[in-house]
This record gives sequence, C-alpha cells and structure tokens, in this order.
Amino acid sequence: MRGLVLHVEDEPAIRDVVRMYLSREGFGVVGVTSGEDALAELRRNRPVAVILDVGLPGIDGIEVCRTMRAENDWTPVLFCTARDDEVDRVMGLELGADDYITKPFSPRELVARVKAAVRRAAGPESASAVLRVGQVSLDRSTHRVGVGDEDVQLTATEFDLLAHLMARPGRVFTREELLSEVWGYSSAGGTRTVDVHIAQVRSKLGDASPIRTVRGVGYSAADPGSGTDER
Ligand code: CA
Repeated sequence: MRGLVLHVEDEPAIRDVVRMYLSREGFGVVGVTSGEDALAELRRNRPVAVILDVGLPGIDGIEVCRTMRAENDWTPVLFCTARDDEVDRVMGLELGADDYITKPFSPRELVARVKAAVRRAAGPESASAVLRVGQVSLDRSTHRVGVGDEDVQLTATEFDLLAHLMARPGRVFTREELLSEVWGYSSAGGTRTVDVHIAQVRSKLGDASPIRTVRGVGYSAADPGSGTDER
C-alpha cells in the first residue's frame, strides 16, 4: 500500500476514473464531493496527498487549501484546474500548492504527479536498503528482519509497519498516520488494527523491539538501550 489519497471532485465520472487508476497503483482512495466534506475528512484522517478540484460547490478548492495551511496541515496538495486563469490563482497565491494539473487530464499523468508529490513530501529515501535501530536490522531488499544474528519471521504487514517506523528513527507517528501510510485506510476502519500489529511485532522482537509508545500521540522507533522508554 502506498497510502491514502483524498480526492475532492464534484464530477462523478472523474472521481470514478481517478479512483480506478489510483487503486490500481496501490493507493487507498477516499472521494468527497465538496470543500466542506474535504475539510471534515482531513480533520478525521491523515492522507498522504490531496487531489483538489478548484471549482467546487460551496467552499472552493482554493479555500480548502488555504484553510489546511492555516491549520498547519502541510499534506501535499495537487490542484485540478479547469481554466488557465485558475492556474494563475492557484500558483500565484502562495497557498503552498505542490502541483497542478489542467482538465482534461490523463489519469496516468495524474497518478504520476501524485506519486511525485508523495515522494517529495517523504524526503530522500535512505541510501541503504538495510535499516538498523539498536539490535534490530531490517533489509528492505530481501525482506529479512533480524535481532543480532537471529532471523525473525514477520508477516508482510508487520514488516511494512516496522520498516515505516525504522525508516525515520525518533519520528513519532500517530495511529491515523500509520493507518494511512502503511495500510492505505481511513480511520473509519479503526486504529485498533495498528495497536494489534504493533503488539505482534513487539512480541516477536522481544526485548530488542525498538518500538516506543509515546503516550497520547502514537509510536516511534528508537534504540531501547538509549534514553527513557515508555512502554
Ligand atoms: Ca468542479
């Protein structure tokens, strides 16, 4: 799963085709039809990117983006514009728009833009495929996890979850972020899934587990041998 994308678009035909292309590429998709619904969704979930139609009934796309940025939400935003004058408004207003695409667009091109925006937001990938935190090593090219010299068997989801945390040691992820970024779900599915998988990874890694619980926030990966540990 590449993560959850919020698609804000009032034309059903465009919503359907974009959902199809994004799903095929491994993204989860939540589609909403108005600016009001987009803001409500953003307060509930943590998508990895937002595709935002400019012309919407009620609150338009520009206002949605302005509100997000005012609320300190810097999720990448890709605007869909219908006219050239909208491009000028979107890119000229210092809204923190990440990119735009003009209608009619090729869905393939849209997906490529979404991937690029998500990649930029994630920052540079670490050069090595092998991640290490404390005694735990995780090799993304061979899908092996080890504690010292011992191999540990993780399911695909457990592996993805641990890799996501270990790729940015010390960074605290909320349950909503992990659901979106690892599972590609919205929180409609419940964040209990995250807790259950965290517990499984911990029990398999034992005392070497680098997963820290940050009370009231979420989880991060840190060397259990260093500093305070709130499990
Ligand atoms: Ca529209």
